[in-house]
Amino acid sequence: MLQKELQNKQSESSVEQHIDPLSMIYKVVVEHESGVLQSSLWKELNLSSRDGSRLAIRLERRGMIKRERMLDAGRWTYILTPARMPARVESIEQIPCLTCPSEDRCCATGVVTPHHCNLIRDWTTNQYLLQIKNNGNKT
Ligand code: SF4
Repeated sequence: MLQKELQNKQSESSVEQHIDPLSMIYKVVVEHESGVLQSSLWKELNLSSRDGSRLAIRLERRGMIKRERMLDAGRWTYILTPARMPARVESIEQIPCLTCPSEDRCCATGVVTPHHCNLIRDWTTNQYLLQIKNNGNKT
């Protein structure tokens, strides 16, 4: 059992070694939805504060994270929070296109198109309402 857990951890760590630093920062920020201090993040990811700051600024410019300046134990730092969350598989597993009999004929400029599809319209409306409801439950 312990050996299996160890193998899983090694395999996770080997996968993480192949993820670029930008994605790693975004991944950790998303895991800390309420915010993570830049300084602790650099320690966790073994990055210099100079390199880490540059990468965080890049993520901020792409609109993926927010950086807010704050005083922590008498020193200025930034707290990083996700500006947008990555798409989750659960969020698209009920999409009507997966079982649509017209899927092979459907395209942006065709007669069958998502621009005039009642199924996709209803699904996106329901997803939107669900998201509003879930956000309301969080506050
Ligand atoms: S957009 Fe509509 S028509 Fe096109 S594949 Fe999806 S469900 Fe089918």
